[in-house]
Amino acid sequence: MDDVSMDCAGCGGALNAFTHRGIALDRCADCRAVWFDAREALAYLHGSPIGAKVESGAATTADDDARPCPRCREETCRAHEVRGIAFLKCGRCGGTHVPAASLLELTGRARREQNRIEEQGLTRSEWVAMLLGLPF
Ligand SMILES: [Zn+2]
Ligand SMILES: [Zn+2]
Repeated sequence: MDDVSMDCAGCGGALNAFTHRGIALDRCADCRAVWFDAREALAYLHGSPIGAKVESGAATTADDDARPCPRCREETCRAHEVRGIAFLKCGRCGGTHVPAASLLELTGRARREQNRIEEQGLTRSEWVAMLLGLPF
């Protein structure tokens, strides 16, 4: 357990630790966004070597206001968008803040694109991580 509380990059609410498939993640009590630490994202992917299969879906960074990173405690999180899915990413620690609406959209899309994802030899987790440009 962390002894330091973390604040949501989206709304400033308190992040609560929870476990998803054995991986410790943090969810905002207020807006339900999920924070992935870089190392948590790595674990989420079960260490799969998917680098060679990654589409060139480079995230576009918006110039507007940076948000405070829950880990770095500096305004290092910037808005990204990939294929219509909005999220924040910390340029320093690689952590990723995914708003609740984006999580829903990702889940729905992964279900709809299941066949295509399988054709690429990816699991849904890998596909989601690839889309968000999570480190692996
Ligand atoms: Zn929040
Ligand atoms: Zn950070």
